[in-house]
Amino acid sequence: MKRTVIIHSGGMDSTVLLAHLVAEGREVHALSVDYGQRHRRELVAAAEICAHYKVPHRIADLRGVTSLFGANALTDSQVAVPEGHYEEASMKATVVPNRNMLLIATAAAWAMSLKASSVAYGAHGGDHAIYPDCRPAFADALDKAIRLADWHEVSLERPFVGMDKTAIVKRGVELGVPFALTWSCYVGGDRHCGKCGTCVERKEAFLRAGVADPTPYAG
Ligand SMILES: [Zn+2]
Repeated sequence: MKRTVIIHSGGMDSTVLLAHLVAEGREVHALSVDYGQRHRRELVAAAEICAHYKVPHRIADLRGVTSLFGANALTDSQVAVPEGHYEEASMKATVVPNRNMLLIATAAAWAMSLKASSVAYGAHGGDHAIYPDCRPAFADALDKAIRLADWHEVSLERPFVGMDKTAIVKRGVELGVPFALTWSCYVGGDRHCGKCGTCVERKEAFLRAGVADPTPYAG
């Protein structure tokens, strides 16, 4: 059985990916990362989802480096989370410097210790130009680097890279994903705000997929 470490944020994409890999018959281990995000609520969601799928779940605590990330809306409470559409330039305030490398590197370390064959994450074709570490060239380079990082070779997989978020929601419906357990909102709190970039994108994805949105939004 192929053993894979999945980077699981508690959001929609990584939850559908988790269900997708479980359905493939893989032995899945899920990793969430606490990097000081204000929406720590997503870590609770991730734990609930992993319990639902009976998948081992670990949370890596990287809060020791949060102060190095500077002013951005996700880890600095002094910076407001921008409202509006994800494609807007204002969303650059949500970029945490080099976040994906930290997440992937941490997951790769666990994968090597577990003798897993891969790390998987939910990058998709609709990922945004505002995030430099979502570029395919970056992922390809990291895949090469991770393969060389240990005598036990671990690869980096992006199974949804050819899909957009709407297609991911449709795949999730096929798999019976409990979307109500997932968390997207960058603001945090107990309810999705309904106005930040990820909330807007979440609403759009359900709408475009023709799927009822189970999320109780605050606004
Ligand atoms: Zn929100």
